[in-house]
Amino acid sequence: MKVVGLTGGIGSGKSTVATMFKNIGIPVYIADDEAKKLMNNDDAVKQKIVALLGADSYIDDRLNREYIAAIVFNDTSKLEKLNAIVHPAVAHHFDTWKRDQDADYVIKEVAILFENDGHKQCDYTILVSAPIEERIKRVLNRDQTTRKQILSRMNNQWDDAQKIILADFVINNIDLEETENQVYEIHKKISS
Ligand code: ATP
Repeated sequence: MKVVGLTGGIGSGKSTVATMFKNIGIPVYIADDEAKKLMNNDDAVKQKIVALLGADSYIDDRLNREYIAAIVFNDTSKLEKLNAIVHPAVAHHFDTWKRDQDADYVIKEVAILFENDGHKQCDYTILVSAPIEERIKRVLNRDQTTRKQILSRMNNQWDDAQKIILADFVINNIDLEETENQVYEIHKKISS
C-alpha cells in the first residue's frame, strides 16, 4: 500500500485537505494527533519525556502541553531530543495502523515532513501552500494565539519555497472549491 505524506505550514489548510481525502474514502492518519495520544498514554514514551523534561511534563497524569511547548520552542536541542522519543513511537504505531487499512493508498498528515527527511518514507508527497498573511489570518481566527506566537512557530518550519522543490504535488489552498478539484486530480493520479 502506498503512503502519501501530506504536509504544509501552520494554517496552510492541511487538516482541511486531509478531510477532503477522507471524504472520498481514503484512510487518513493524523500524525500529530497520534503523537499526542502516545505522549499521554504510552508508558515507555512518558517515562522518557519525564527523564528529558522533568516531572512537570505531566499534571495528574495528563500531558502539560504549555510547559513542554515553553521549553522546546525555545531550546532546539531539547526539541530534537523530544522528537527522537516521539517520532519512532509514531512511526511504529503508523506501521501497525497501515496494516489494518484497505485502500490503494493512505494519507499521513504531518506538520514536519521534509525538514526531517520524512518524505523519504513516502511514495508521494503533497504540500499544501497558501500565502503567509492568509495563513496568519486563518490561525488568528481559529486559535487563541498571537501573531508573534504564529511567527515563532513558522520559524521552526521551512518556507514553502524550500518544500515546493521536494513535493510531488502542490495544492494552492485559497479557494476551497478549487482545492477540492486539486484533491480529486491528485487522487486520480495516485490511484491510477
Ligand atoms: P495547523 O498546522 O495550524 O494545524 P492546518 O494546516 O492543518 O493548520 P487547517 O486547520 O486545515 O490548517 O486550516 C486553518 C484554518 O483555516 C481552519 O480554521 C480552516 O477552516 C481555515 N481554512 C483552511 N483552508 C481555508 C481556505 N481555503 N479558505 C478559508 N479558510 C480556510
